[in-house]
Amino acid sequence: MAEMGNGLTKQIDRLDNSRADLHLHTTYSDGALSPETLIQRAHSVGLSVVSITDHDNVGAIDEAIEAGKCLGVEVVSGVELSVALNEKDIHLLAYFFDYKNQKLQDYLAFFRYERLKRAERIVQKLNDINISLKMDAVLDQAGIGSVGRPHIASALLEEGLIETYHEAFMKYIGVGAPAYEKKYQLSPLEATQLVAQAGGLTFLAHPGKYTTDFELSTLIQAGLDGIEVVHPSHNEARQEFYRGVVHQYFLLECGGSDYHGGRKNDDQVLGVYTVPLQIVEDMRTRLFS
Ligand code: AMP
Ligand code: ZN
Ligand code: FE
Ligand code: FE
Repeated sequence: MAEMGNGLTKQIDRLDNSRADLHLHTTYSDGALSPETLIQRAHSVGLSVVSITDHDNVGAIDEAIEAGKCLGVEVVSGVELSVALNEKDIHLLAYFFDYKNQKLQDYLAFFRYERLKRAERIVQKLNDINISLKMDAVLDQAGIGSVGRPHIASALLEEGLIETYHEAFMKYIGVGAPAYEKKYQLSPLEATQLVAQAGGLTFLAHPGKYTTDFELSTLIQAGLDGIEVVHPSHNEARQEFYRGVVHQYFLLECGGSDYHGGRKNDDQVLGVYTVPLQIVEDMRTRLFS
């Protein structure tokens, strides 16, 4: 528990309906819970503001708002966008945009279609090397969510074609493996512009997972409004570092649990990785005053 420094203890102490979680996933991407169940859980751990940030999908937001109304949980529009910086996959979080914005909806529909075609290419490549996976097995795993490599890995496992989930990436679908296929690539600048034209703010998600200082500065120049400071992958020193960058560049901060409803063995994060409501107010001030 080296990661659970004083900052986190303080956060747990302050679970008094004054906390927000701005990074959550549902069945509309790779989360295990429906929007309604997720909002109920969020409420039960004392969260009063949340944002559902499904990967490249805003389908959960209407249901989440509805569920939130009954329980007094405010739902801020959100999404986690996949972008590419020099071939590297980067995740951006966006908030407070109009989730019915036509340009945004069109892009997300296009991206999901591209993901589907890519999954078909991966399945074809697998078949070419005598791994007899069917596309239907992948679609069963994806359900209503955007199709990704995790669904292909789960399908391979389910069909008994591999022994462990990770084997899928190591042997077949990881970068450089025989059935790997790239995703459609949106640049960080295109993403920040897409969000801005829909009236929202864009943040770099969990930079501690993979972002070098050089990449961070390139992304800031691409028009980021802020950085995700609180995240399960950031220890207290990382949080302080990113908070420093936020202040230095007059950015905003965001944070949350990245809870996938237990799918990633992450049941302990909900209600623990949270931010004060002031963070949400700061976003509103930047946008609306
Ligand atoms: P996609 O967006 O379809 O390329 O899938 C990316 C997701 O696959 C990541 O967010 C991870 O959840 C998962 N993933 C990628 N590489 C690995 C790996 N080596 N082992 C396990 N999961 C991985
Ligand atoms: Zn995810
Ligand atoms: Fe992410
Ligand atoms: Fe996430």
